Amino acid sequence: MKQREVYIGLGSNMGDRDANLQAALNLIRDIIDVQIKDMSSIYITEPWGNKNQEDFLNQVIRIETYLSARELLEELQKIEIKMGRQRTEHWGPRNIDLDILLYGNEIVDFPDLKIPHPYAQQRLFVLIPLEEINSEIVFPDSGMGIREVLIRVLGREDENLIKRID
Ligand code: AMP
Repeated sequence: MKQREVYIGLGSNMGDRDANLQAALNLIRDIIDVQIKDMSSIYITEPWGNKNQEDFLNQVIRIETYLSARELLEELQKIEIKMGRQRTEHWGPRNIDLDILLYGNEIVDFPDLKIPHPYAQQRLFVLIPLEEINSEIVFPDSGMGIREVLIRVLGREDENLIKRID
């Protein structure tokens, strides 16, 4: 097994959002064989999809792990369940959402596990914190560099507001 550099996106728009991010970080730190190497700032993001809900706090972290992508997904889902995530509507409110954004340079394409994450190259709340951590990222599926993707998305009119809050 090879050690991978993995990027995880965290989001919360219910309850004490700061405390939710912090609790999720602590639980991720407790996963055997996961080391948190880097953390972005926290960003506040207008929800998209269903707009009738609280703003999100979003953050991205870089970890190193020997876990497979599926093992890591299972660990993250356990954390979501432990934190009492209610699975309601797809773009509805959630106290914690944990997504595997990038898993080394691998492309994974199963119905329940897609890496790079399908919205990784679409949404500012992923791209801006990712670029903050590592501006040299290249997406293995599109072959595009993160700066190039970011400039393209920033040029779109439908993109939601995102603001750094720390
Ligand atoms: P969501 O409501 O956006 O949190 O979607 C949750 C579902 O997305 C889970 O059931 C996962 O199986 C699926 N999924 C697909 N790809 C990923 C990924 N890269 N990271 C996390 N969840 C994923």
